[in-house]
Amino acid sequence: MLGNQKYDAVVIGGGISGLSASIKLAEAGRKILLLESQNELGGKIRTLSLTETLTEEGPDELITGYKKFDELLTRANVFDSLIYPETSRFYIYSRNRLRRFPESLITGIPSFNLNDIYNFVTSGLLSPKGYARAMLEPFFKINGLSDDLSIRALFEKKFGSEFTKNVIDPLFGGIMGADISIISSRSYVPYIYQVAKDGKSLSIYFSRKRGTRHFKITSTLNGLRGIVEMLRKYAEKNGVKIITGMAVKSVEYMNGNWNINTETDRIKCSRLIMAVPSYVASKLVRDIDKNLSFLLSSIKYSGITTANLVYKEASVRLHEKFSGFLVPSNSGFKLRGCTLMSRKWSYARMKDHELIRCFINRDPLKPEEYYTQSAAEELAQIGITEGYPEKSSVKVWDSALPVYAIGHSELIKKINETVPPNMYLAGAPYNGVGVASSGVSGIEAAEKIMSETEK
Ligand SMILES: Cc1cc2nc3c(=O)[nH]c(=O)nc-3n(C[C@H](O)[C@H](O)[C@H](O)COP(=O)(O)OP(=O)(O)OC[C@H]3O[C@@H](n4cnc5c(N)ncnc54)[C@H](O)[C@@H]3O)c2cc1C
Repeated sequence: MLGNQKYDAVVIGGGISGLSASIKLAEAGRKILLLESQNELGGKIRTLSLTETLTEEGPDELITGYKKFDELLTRANVFDSLIYPETSRFYIYSRNRLRRFPESLITGIPSFNLNDIYNFVTSGLLSPKGYARAMLEPFFKINGLSDDLSIRALFEKKFGSEFTKNVIDPLFGGIMGADISIISSRSYVPYIYQVAKDGKSLSIYFSRKRGTRHFKITSTLNGLRGIVEMLRKYAEKNGVKIITGMAVKSVEYMNGNWNINTETDRIKCSRLIMAVPSYVASKLVRDIDKNLSFLLSSIKYSGITTANLVYKEASVRLHEKFSGFLVPSNSGFKLRGCTLMSRKWSYARMKDHELIRCFINRDPLKPEEYYTQSAAEELAQIGITEGYPEKSSVKVWDSALPVYAIGHSELIKKINETVPPNMYLAGAPYNGVGVASSGVSGIEAAEKIMSETEK
């Protein structure tokens, strides 16, 4: 059936990057087919109904402030439906108890503004010695840096090991389920890497920049699924043909055209966007280019488990309103972080109950009940809850997020040089792991096609 049609472009993968790419091309009048293997669009975005409320198994935050993606959301009428968290306050488990995370530390860099120094020093995140070392950062220079450096190495050099262990590890490794000893500072925090490379003080530089960029945490009243649904409607209104439940099995390039093979169809198109995880892209290109397939398979993924736990209100010991907390990897806990969904998001508020979402280190040999049990025990140990949840739902992500390992930018450069003509890669593996940056990467793949094929 589909084989009778010829499309300007076929997009493989209906996550946020594939949806964004399809919309951008369709807005420019291109004939687009979007193929998604699952029965629903959204990819990692998986909003779940649990008892009488909604929660998330994947991301719960869309960060706005990425211009191209914000503009697409505006055109699709999504922007006006965005909601904001009830509270942005969060904590870190440090030095044997939960400690309030100073807002100014959200970039990972202590600010030298007086008020921020006061909040940082009184947070108790570090010992007096740890604070003294962190504040001496301007004297520790790593200029002349030419190679990539892990996040751990960069922050240890600049701010000392205690700051890195108690603040940076949970902030940048935390819910990603990845080790900051292997994450590339150049690819994961390029703005920080560049300033350090120029031999400048990070604290002084970022104190001056504070308040100049406006990133906001958002969702919708239907969770992040709300965004996917609105984008789907907008895509269809612009003529995108969307097929779900249809996995692409292989692709071939013949006489200047792509053939996209599914179980039942062979579809022809002149341009192809691969908006799938890099390990899927690696398999799909294996018969066309072994080298590209190998390079794509070199991007590793982290695994993590999310467990949504519903507790009776009386079993939750915290009375303060905050959105969640992070746990350093060396704390002895399997928990890496928690989102207090019913306090953070109005859509997850419950009557007489609280909904807590836990991120737990994944263990491939353990059954689902293990995660509920382990999260319940550790939440009680930390002092958040007592007893066992009334209801729970567990999602084990074997390949949750691409890990931008040291040398990631060189790897991406090689991949881009190797990609065959008229094929474009989009999504989290390449240039930013978040929902918004994945959207931007889809838009940019579409822009490349548009600039090469002006109509
Ligand atoms: C637990 C977790 C929490 C996260 N939290 C946040 C957060 O709070 N904020 C944030 O910004 N980011 C967060 N992220 C990251 C973010 O969700 C993802 O990086 C982003 O959504 C990825 O989008 P994508 O389009 O690149 O890929 P995906 O969402 O992976 O989409 C790829 C799509 O391709 C489809 N596909 C695969 N193979 C085929 C095939 N052969 N044929 C057709 N289709 C195929 C898949 O089914 C999928 O729908 C989180 C991720 C996880 C896992």
